[in-house]
Amino acid sequence: YFITFEGGEGAGKTSVLKEIEKKLREEGYPVTATREPGGIEIAEKIRQIILEPSHTAMDGKTEALLYAAARRQHLVEKVLPALKQGKIVLCDRFVDSSLAYQGYARGLGMEEVYQINQFAISDCMPDLTLFFDIRPEVGLQRIAENVSREKNRLDLEKQQFHDNVYQAYRMLLEKFPNRIYPINAENDLATVTAEAYQKIVSFLR
Ligand code: C5P
Ligand code: MG
Repeated sequence: YFITFEGGEGAGKTSVLKEIEKKLREEGYPVTATREPGGIEIAEKIRQIILEPSHTAMDGKTEALLYAAARRQHLVEKVLPALKQGKIVLCDRFVDSSLAYQGYARGLGMEEVYQINQFAISDCMPDLTLFFDIRPEVGLQRIAENVSREKNRLDLEKQQFHDNVYQAYRMLLEKFPNRIYPINAENDLATVTAEAYQKIVSFLR
């Protein structure tokens, strides 16, 4: 099964994913944990290009295409082979991020961005998506307090951008109620992990 973790900045996706990977493994499930953009060498390099803070000239469509390119390579090189081996693939972000960030917040259009992604993923959609639901200002506050987090180009965006990302995720949640499941991400790590784990395990059964 292909399970993706989605949500805005500071939602705790990465930390919770690590915890869940550990728990599932302890329970004997075969798991592959990965992230986007990145997860493999070529896609990690594309990630660096996209997120480099000095790349302020990057055009929105260029950005969307680079995300799609990184996604394609990651999918064929890592995700699909793992799924084929019967692994549960946990992925930190996937196509919904592009719909929310490039499609809606950047204003390229969710439909348009979906189309270039359709070309990239050939209909390989997640079986389950956990939406880490947190008010953008709360997430941004967490990020501001996390000194070890590396700065990236998206940090230059204003509050409004992150509000738009949040709004887009809410729209996706309404549009795909059978695939996307919301988790209250404002709770502490242990609580969020427990809720996410619960959801995944009941889905797997
Ligand atoms: O998930 P992570 O925080 O590692 O993502 C790195 C950065 O890339 C974040 O600032 C995120 O907002 C941004 N991003 C984006 N569009 C995507 C995926 C991620 O702007 N499609
Ligand atoms: Mg993260």
